[in-house]
Parts: sequence; C-alpha cells; structure tokens
Amino acid sequence: MQGLPRKKVIVIGAGFAGLAAAASMAQAGYAVTLLEKNEVAGGRARLFKAEGFTFDMGPSWYWMPDVFEQFFQKFGKTTADYYRLERLDPSYQVLYGRQDVMELPAGMPELEALFESLEPGSAARLRTFLKQAAYKYEVGINNLVYKPSRSFSEFLDVKLLVDVLRLDVFQSMHKHVRKYFKHPRLIQLMEFPILFLGALPQNTPALYSLMNYADISLGTWYPMGGMHQIVEGMVALAQEQGVDIRLGEEVERLELQNGAITQVITAKGAYVADVVIGGSDYHHLETKLLPQESRSYTDKYWDSRVMAPSSLIFYLGVDKKLDGLRHHNLFFDEDFGPHAHEIYTQPAWPKKPLFYVSVPSKTDPTVAPEGKENLFILIPVAPDLPDTQETRERYYHMVMDRLEQIIGQEIRSHVIYKRSYAHKDFIKDYHAFKGNAYGLANTLLQTAVLKPSLKSKKVRNLYYTGQLTVPGPGVPPSLISGQVVAAEVLKEFAPQETTLTL
Ligand SMILES: Cc1cc2nc3c(=O)[nH]c(=O)nc-3n(C[C@H](O)[C@H](O)[C@H](O)COP(=O)(O)OP(=O)(O)OC[C@H]3O[C@@H](n4cnc5c(N)ncnc54)[C@H](O)[C@@H]3O)c2cc1C
Repeated sequence: MQGLPRKKVIVIGAGFAGLAAAASMAQAGYAVTLLEKNEVAGGRARLFKAEGFTFDMGPSWYWMPDVFEQFFQKFGKTTADYYRLERLDPSYQVLYGRQDVMELPAGMPELEALFESLEPGSAARLRTFLKQAAYKYEVGINNLVYKPSRSFSEFLDVKLLVDVLRLDVFQSMHKHVRKYFKHPRLIQLMEFPILFLGALPQNTPALYSLMNYADISLGTWYPMGGMHQIVEGMVALAQEQGVDIRLGEEVERLELQNGAITQVITAKGAYVADVVIGGSDYHHLETKLLPQESRSYTDKYWDSRVMAPSSLIFYLGVDKKLDGLRHHNLFFDEDFGPHAHEIYTQPAWPKKPLFYVSVPSKTDPTVAPEGKENLFILIPVAPDLPDTQETRERYYHMVMDRLEQIIGQEIRSHVIYKRSYAHKDFIKDYHAFKGNAYGLANTLLQTAVLKPSLKSKKVRNLYYTGQLTVPGPGVPPSLISGQVVAAEVLKEFAPQETTLTL
C-alpha cells in the first residue's frame, strides 16, 4: 500500500469535534483538510482579547480530565505537553443570598462534612450514590459513549445490558436524587451538573448521575492561560499529524454525484473529497449546504427536536479586584422552577433567572491586567427568543443589581470593558440552529441511537460529528464524538486508494 495516494478527507468546522476528528483521521493515514469559517479555531470555545483582558467565549468548566488525557495519549502525547492543569479548590461556590454562600470543597472528607452539616446521614448516602455513579461513569464513558449509536444492536452486549438495567439508568434524575437526599440544597447540588446536558432533571435519565461522579470525584480543573489552551493544544496536535487547517474559509456548498460528495466549495476554492465530516452544526449542514433530496431529516424532524438552552453572556473587564467571588460562582438566589419552565416548557425571557459567574482572573493572572478582574456572566435562556439590545441591557442591570447586592460591592461603575453575546451571535458566528449554545438536549428520547445519526442516511461519504449528534453536548463529549466518527470512517473507507489512479 506504500506510495498509493491517500484518500482526501474534508472536515468542516474547527470546534472540538472537528479538531478531534481531523487529528484522528490524519493519524490513520488520510490527507486531511479542515475548513473553518471563523478566523479563530475552537468554535464555541473561541477566545478574544480586549483592553488587556483575555476572554474565553464559551466553556469555562474543565470536567472529565480523563477524556482529554486519553485523547492526547492516543497520539503518544499528554495534556501536559500542551497546557498546565490546576485543580480548583473549592471546586465552585453557590451563592444563595447576602452572606449565605456555600463553597464546594474539592476534598472528599470536607465535602462529606458539608453534606452531614445540612442533612445528618447524608454523607453515607453520598458515598453510596457516588459508588453507583462511578460505575455508571466507567460503563458510560468507557463503553457507551464511544459507540457510534448507528443501531440498537451495538448495545446488545449482555454484560452491558445487565449493568445498565441494574443501575436505575432509565429512571429520571429527579427521582434518583430524591431517593438519596432530602435537603433542598443537596438536591439542587446533585441536580446542577446535569443542567450542562441541557434538559430538566425530570427528563434526564439517571444514567447521567455519572456527571455527579465527574463533578465531585474527578474534580473541577482549569488549564492555565484559559480554556482556549485546549484548543491551541488540539490545533498544534492536528498540525503535527499533518492536518491542513484553513481558517476564515466558510464552506458554502457540497457538490454531489451519484449519491456521494465529490467537491466541497468555499468562497476561496473547491476541494476534492473522498470523505466529508461535518463538524459544523448538523442542521446548518443539512439545510444550507446540501440539496433537499440529500438531507437525512425533514424540517418537521428538526422542529420537533428539544434543543439545549441558548445563553445570554456578558464579558466584563473590571478595574478592581472583587471580594466574595471565586473562580466559579452559581447564583441560586432565586427558585430554579420558574426559570426552568421558561427555558424548557414555555420558552420566554425569564422573569427571575438564575445565573453563573466565572472569574478566571481569581486563578490565572494572565487573563486580566494586574489589579483587575475578568468576569464572564452567563444566563441560560431558551433558544429561539427575540434577541434585542434593549433586552440584553435589561438583563445586564437585573443581574448586576443582584450580583452587587449579594457580594456587597459596586461593580458597574468599575466596568471598563463590556460585550454581550446571545442568540443572534450564535447564529451569525456558528450557524447555530435557533441560536442554541449547547446543541441538542440529552433527553431520554434524544439519547444514543435516537440522536441525529453520525452517518448521513442519503450521502454515501458524509458523516457528522459534534454536539448535535452522539454522544451529546459538552467539551468532553465533543472530543469523543470526533474520535468516534473517525473510527466509523476508517471502518468504511481505507485511508489509501487500493489501486493507482493515473
Ligand atoms: C457559552 C457556552 C458555555 C459552555 N460551557 C461549557 C463548559 O463549561 N464545559 C463544557 O464541557 N462544555 C461547555 N459548553 C459546551 C461546549 O462548548 C460545546 O458542546 C462544544 O464546544 C461543541 O463543540 P463542537 O465541535 O460540537 O461545535 P462548535 O464548537 O460549534 O464547532 C463548530 C464549528 O463549525 C464552524 N462552522 C459552522 N458552519 C461552517 C461552515 N459552513 N463552514 C466552515 N465552518 C463552519 C463554526 O464556526 C465552529 O467553529 C459551553 C458552550 C457554550 C456556548
């Protein structure tokens, strides 16, 4: 086979999924070109700099360090070759009101003491809960999520089925958590991690208590320099594998012949393709880049999908240090019930939203000038809402009123840089369906085989990866998605031509 021409793979989109797929394909011996519309790689995890501040635009929680480590190790590397991780302690804090703050210690004995202080007997129950969650993590992460989910038969492994049925996986998280804990704050703490999956605890299968194991046992980490360090590491790794990364080059059209893509067309040129992997939003690729007859799903299908929330975000540069805030801060000073209802069941701008504030300058002096603070404020909101400047401003003041009141400090008059980001930006920057931030929600009916398929049903050489297909939203799942799709391509297309073409 040596010397035979390598098959050409075009990957669309340099998010985590596209980068992971591209690096994996290049390692397997394909000639890989990665086309990204934006000038900066990373997709929803891009960064920007302004007034001496460095802002991560999307993800801020580094969870499941093992998934990142395993990815880099596949290439004979380690995360430490590209970035330096620090474990946060406390992992995060929850603010319920003025001088009513709970810090979540990283150490297990301290965390158990905290649980016990709220609900006697709960430390022992936490241990049992986590033992089961650890097992789910082991089965879920090492087995289930690396499956391509193209057919139910993949899950007909008897041991796996027995394991899965033994573990209450199909019961809702809502019920599962309440079997162990009664104190409202403990319930809220245990339910919080699955909000990352973009669905209500009532609609999320208890399989995802594996997220509690990730949260509590594996810990919250931070790559020094910011989350974008992961992207830079992956870009370097992909280039070391030989991937040709072309930024600022949007794919405009896919040209097909006899049920297969032959060329990928951008404003700058045409790329011959043997295989195409779409790492851009699934819906965008289907509806904007493919002709009608080549789409796997109808408009009706897409409209009936439950999308994970969008977000209203504020990136703020503050000209002083702020007391009372940690790196990660959850503001649970309002009841989540009505807010959840406004996200999931009756989509509307929330009346009293919960919100999250990340202050990476608490850990990392490089993301803000000396003596200043870098603030990222996120309000989860329903996708597809009218997004106007006036609405954003109203929410800015609503959230700042509460933030200033709870930490007892004036912030607004110290803001020297401010930028907001919401639905319209997600659509403009990423072609996000309904302006979603986190893709498709992980409800029971949108899990594994029930997600939009990683292989096109109509186009022979088209595959999809990223947060709208398997295994789901989040940085680690997107990394996994890229590796899973690469393994699928390898099963169906050899990396090299089998005969010489003259
Ligand atoms: C505000 C926010 C906070 C988050 N917080 C966390 C967190 O703390 N922890 C966590 O684990 N996860 C978090 N997530 C989720 C996580 O960031 C995403 O699940 C993940 O980054 C998605 O990666 P992806 O590769 O699937 O998609 P994307 O990152 O969206 O990548 C898709 C890429 O395709 C490109 N593209 C689109 N159309 C075209 C085209 N026509 N031609 C060429 N390129 C195109 C886009 O520009 C983009 O770069 C957060 C997400 C957001 C938005």
